[in-house]
Amino acid sequence: KSLDKKIAIVTGAGSGIGRAISLLYASEGAKIVVSDISEAGGNETVKEIESKGGKALFVKADTSKPGDSEQLVNEAVKHFGALHIAVNNAGIGGPISSVGEYPVDGWDKVISINLSGVFYGLRYQIPAIIAAGGGSIVNMASILGKVGTKGSAAYVAAKHGVIGLTETAALEYGDKNIRINAIGPGYIVTPLLSGMDEAARKALISLHPMGRLGTAEEVAELALWLNSDKASFVTGAYYNVDGGYLAQ
Ligand code: NAD
Repeated sequence: KSLDKKIAIVTGAGSGIGRAISLLYASEGAKIVVSDISEAGGNETVKEIESKGGKALFVKADTSKPGDSEQLVNEAVKHFGALHIAVNNAGIGGPISSVGEYPVDGWDKVISINLSGVFYGLRYQIPAIIAAGGGSIVNMASILGKVGTKGSAAYVAAKHGVIGLTETAALEYGDKNIRINAIGPGYIVTPLLSGMDEAARKALISLHPMGRLGTAEEVAELALWLNSDKASFVTGAYYNVDGGYLAQ
């Protein structure tokens, strides 16, 4: 198994892409620290992992709080003995509005979860991974880490920031046996998109050359490869799993 004996933190693991990553990593032999602000979601992910014979621990943590992010790493090391892998995946969509009217509190919230949250994750994960002798981190960006879209300035800015943060961290830790990469999914069918009506959904589908939205499992496959030894010479990279969205 590709993640045998590895210990992994996954944030936002109570739903969607984070849950799919947690389940796939567990099936590949990793012990998973399932983290989320949602206890119900996190506990459900743990239950699903355990029902398939895997090992998991739920730790409630808000990625926008540095203290929570530090505590999460401490719990992982205390419970499972070390930390080798992290997936900084938690994120929200935020308000939809043009920049000239964008709610300032909404901006602050999106930046604090989607960008500062990834920094806080790295800030405490990296020393623990160094202490374990090395490992690998995946940060969840988006196609909107590379291009804009009307109405989502905070999300777009945060995801662009995640890619720059990933590149810089990769440079700093390339010779310390930690690989750090980012993923850019296209639109994926998860609860994040659940507020959308049929017309909006059709419009989104038309942006993907493959003529459909992606699945959380398809994103999880890329997150598995990047955090496995099969990607041993890959760091500081940004990979898309987007049905061709960014190729046009
Ligand atoms: P989701 O809403 O299904 O899951 C997100 C999870 O994050 C939820 O369980 C939620 O409780 C948790 N969360 C929210 N705020 C948190 C916080 N402050 N601290 C800890 N956990 C928190 O969404 P998803 O679609 O699975 O999205 C996961 C990631 O993928 C996000 O970073 C999102 O931006 C990114 N992404 C999603 C899509 C998409 O189309 N669904 C596309 C590109 C990128």
